[in-house]
Amino acid sequence: MDPKTKIRPAATLALTRDTNEGLEVLLLQRTWDAVFLPGFYVFPGGAVDAADQDCLPWLEGHDDQSASAMLGLDSGGAGYLIAAIRECFEEAGILLALDAGGHLIGANHPNIHRERDAVSCGDVPLADLCRRHRLKLPLDRLAYLSHWITPPGAPRRFDTRFFVAAAPSGQVPEHDGVETIEHVWLSPDQALADHREGRRLFGSPTLRTLRILAEFRTTSALLAHTHAQPPEPFPSEPWPAQDRTGSRQMLEPGAPAYDEVRKLDPNASGSARASIRTGEPVAIAPGVVRLTAPNAGMMTGPGTNTYLLGTDSFTVIDPGPADEGHLERILEYTGGRIEQILVTHTHRDHSPAAGPLQARTGARLLGIAGPDEPSQDGSFRPDQTLQDGSKVETDAGRLRALHTPGHASNHLCYLLEDEQLLFSGDHIMQGSTVVINPPDGDMKAYLESLDRLLQEDIRHIAPGHGFLMGHAHAVIDYLSTHRLAREHKVVEALKAQGPSRLADLTPHVYDDVPSAIHGIASRSLLAHLNKLVQDGRARAEGDHWQLVSGA
Ligand SMILES: [Zn+2]
Repeated sequence: MDPKTKIRPAATLALTRDTNEGLEVLLLQRTWDAVFLPGFYVFPGGAVDAADQDCLPWLEGHDDQSASAMLGLDSGGAGYLIAAIRECFEEAGILLALDAGGHLIGANHPNIHRERDAVSCGDVPLADLCRRHRLKLPLDRLAYLSHWITPPGAPRRFDTRFFVAAAPSGQVPEHDGVETIEHVWLSPDQALADHREGRRLFGSPTLRTLRILAEFRTTSALLAHTHAQPPEPFPSEPWPAQDRTGSRQMLEPGAPAYDEVRKLDPNASGSARASIRTGEPVAIAPGVVRLTAPNAGMMTGPGTNTYLLGTDSFTVIDPGPADEGHLERILEYTGGRIEQILVTHTHRDHSPAAGPLQARTGARLLGIAGPDEPSQDGSFRPDQTLQDGSKVETDAGRLRALHTPGHASNHLCYLLEDEQLLFSGDHIMQGSTVVINPPDGDMKAYLESLDRLLQEDIRHIAPGHGFLMGHAHAVIDYLSTHRLAREHKVVEALKAQGPSRLADLTPHVYDDVPSAIHGIASRSLLAHLNKLVQDGRARAEGDHWQLVSGA
């Protein structure tokens, strides 16, 4: 898709209220017919409208200049806050406004709320409503929580500012029944649990916001914190890099190499490369170098990344396939001073070089032996079997092993604690979808392993394939939401078709991918079905799958 897709300014508003059990937030469910995020739960929000600027005479607490300063803009900042208020009125029926006496509108007002539909369809501009009813929009009641720009490649891209405000007590939300089909007050913890269990779908930015809200018990604590600590500016400026031929190019935020190039070249000198070249050492952190094996392909992207940690004596993570040239490059870079070799898992593109490298250097092998399966490298026999939480000292700092089954039952990620750098193997890949192939691949375990990473302090992810990734938690949220949205399609297909064979379900569940890859897709489908069985939501009879009634 065109990377130059116009980025539209947008705003969303998380309305919170206090209950005896803590804070709750208003969420709306988008219609299943929506082009963008169908069926997802979102905060009220939408694109900034040119007419929003007409509300400037009816503001309280901020003018455009102070609102722009808060958002880090030269001008136009008030438009985001006005759009947040307008969209909240249109989509949720709640109008955050002061009456002529300067009081918040505290109940659904017959004369004002009656005009909601007219505001929604654009017949009545919000500025007109303010003028006729002598309303003011209290912009200072909105606290600026976070900032998100849709990565390139999406059909629609938004530059979205997330705000939070106390819901005006007395007003009752009403979804519009067209764009939004349900509204619900949920505690952030409940919403996050619903996400984990696949009961409700949320996009990454919504999850990120929910996670911030979950830190607070009351609206006043949340607002005090948010007003005091405006979010870090979201990286929005293009960054210079070298393309394949060495010419200078500008990378847009969200481009595959963008996070890597920004980390490796913080001064924007244009020295970092926006491509991965086989056998070329790339320093990605102090004492950490990436060397990519010459096994590029459909399943391996630009090739398997081998990581070399150290300066005098070395630790190797994922030596890769037993390719003589790749082995030579590893020996050349390390001078053969390799103390230990760690593997994330034993698929044939990750571990087969371990044995030959051990034979030439005397290094110890660490990891977990794989199950007896054709897709596994049976030659890998560790000198030390690692477990979840095992610590491994290296010349570049301490690594902690994290057992992350899902892609493979013996999969380990390694966290370089001081750098907050996660070597993610095939648990998280950049640029391609992780294969979950039963029986060793396990979708339920995979999602739980993703979820568990959210408890760790991770700044960057160094994957087994592809570039470094930043925004680790957003990446993880995206991956789990993507899987849960697919799971929803599986459930819908089973509902529509009744008991079905795998081959009959695949074209329905994967109607958005080319039929040429339906073979691989059917393995993922099997993994989803296995998860639904583990969750008690489906069962298998012979080669037919069906939903468990009431689940
Ligand atoms: Zn693998």
